Amino acid sequence: MTSPDQTAPARGDQRAGWRTLRPTLGLESLALLSSLFFSLCCNGLLWHRLLGELQIQLPFAFAVFVFVTALQAFLLGLVLTRWTAKPLLTVLFVATAFSAYYMGAYKVYLDADMIRNVLHTDVKEASELFVAGMILPLLLLGVLPVVLLWRLRLRRRTWRRALLVRIGFLIATLLVAAAAAALSFQDLSALVRNQREVRYLVTPSNYIAALLKVVMASPPGMKQPLVPIGEDAKQLPRAAGARPRLLVFVLGETARAQNWGLDGYARQTTPELAAMPDVINFPDASACGTSTEVSVPCLFSPYGRHDYNEKKIRSHQSLLHVLDRAGVGVLWRDNQSGCKGVCEGLPFESLSDARDPALCNGNRCFDEILLSGLTQAIAADGRDRVVVLHQLGNHGPAYYLRYPPRFRRFTPTCDTEDLGKCSVAQIVNSYDNALLYTDHFLAKTIDVLKQVQDHDTALIYVSDHGESLGEKGLFLHGVPYAIAPREQTHVPMLMWFSPDFARDQRLDLACLRREAAGPVSHDNLFPSILGLMDVRSKVYDRGRDLFARCRQQPAGR
Ligand SMILES: [Zn+2]
Repeated sequence: MTSPDQTAPARGDQRAGWRTLRPTLGLESLALLSSLFFSLCCNGLLWHRLLGELQIQLPFAFAVFVFVTALQAFLLGLVLTRWTAKPLLTVLFVATAFSAYYMGAYKVYLDADMIRNVLHTDVKEASELFVAGMILPLLLLGVLPVVLLWRLRLRRRTWRRALLVRIGFLIATLLVAAAAAALSFQDLSALVRNQREVRYLVTPSNYIAALLKVVMASPPGMKQPLVPIGEDAKQLPRAAGARPRLLVFVLGETARAQNWGLDGYARQTTPELAAMPDVINFPDASACGTSTEVSVPCLFSPYGRHDYNEKKIRSHQSLLHVLDRAGVGVLWRDNQSGCKGVCEGLPFESLSDARDPALCNGNRCFDEILLSGLTQAIAADGRDRVVVLHQLGNHGPAYYLRYPPRFRRFTPTCDTEDLGKCSVAQIVNSYDNALLYTDHFLAKTIDVLKQVQDHDTALIYVSDHGESLGEKGLFLHGVPYAIAPREQTHVPMLMWFSPDFARDQRLDLACLRREAAGPVSHDNLFPSILGLMDVRSKVYDRGRDLFARCRQQPAGR
């Protein structure tokens, strides 16, 4: 059977110009051209990393180029058919244009954690990521190739011939990729060994592989219940007549230690906390991850960074479930994007949609909303309580939206989410103003706790991860942990105890102040909070309990 000749001009169409220009292309040529387009136009960050930062030799760079292009052409050859080619490539061109823009603008690596961040981004966060500066790159890298694609006629072949051509194409691309790899074997194996993260820069393979990884890890509709931990958890009995304890755990967002006044930053970004001598500061605290999606589950897990296993962490219950099991009342109050599974099945209150006209603008609320109704929410019922306040904190890139006008003290600020339009100094000013507001929020929370009469109160604050503000050309966060700069992992952390709480816990605060000077991490929080609430369980690791060495043990306990 012969197919109709698709190269003849369309019948009855006499109009000249590009409207009649509909070149015919075989699917294999299309796969190769698309792959070349990706390599040449959408992998700027990859070439910048290889040639600019790692300074590899040109012949090796050329080999990488051939290898990547041939391999991505091979992968396209596996999935492109006459029916799938146009819809599939349309999605790929558009998604790749977005990826290339964000990778270029913020130097982000598209690994599974980053894809999880993207998938869990809510409408509010997404709207802050759309900026005018991305229109031109999206037109050039996304819309233009899609328009050209739909002008194409795809060559028809008999199935027998199509099969032969395709097999030939797949073998040829594999051979070319193999030849490029073989010719640069030593350099390539060294690169793969020492710079593993470079693979997260190869677009679009990076986000497709990451997406597959995320979907395979938790297939939609196949949600498993969390595996219980600490099933033996029990709270030690209290002395008769002791007041219930209330621990407020403030989970910060994107605050980094380098800009934290208490940690020695040249600017005073924490004036209110600095005026509180009873605050205990931890200047050397490390986060478990460089993104909310990694840090939050990790911080509340017994496995933490020291025994890091993402799958295990996500499939098991959290600190909050152990506390709940031991009879401690838990509550998560959220001004951000949820608790990332760590409060599953436990009391949860979202305040990000609150309508308080003084604190909310109909879209977002300032963090003080987390204090609204707090004392009612913790009305005494005799039980100890742990309340998590999940801040919006310094969530970027729209730092300028994170603080009320009176905290706009460092100027000029960057009053747009398009960081490319601002100088680094402006970006840092907005970021530091947002820290001033967190300082105020924490001081106010401590003041609220000082007023609470029916509980012994305490507060722990730690940020989930840091942020890059232009160092090494990096912005925002989410760099793979193994190569993450200190700006993204070194975070502020502090504690405050009411005198009654400290006395009841037999906490030697002078000892704790000495301990606080040393290195600590998110990994310390799981056992420390269990210890603070007197919960005993097999999952309690005394060696990591920050208070263990500063607690005077009474006889017989
Ligand atoms: Zn975060």
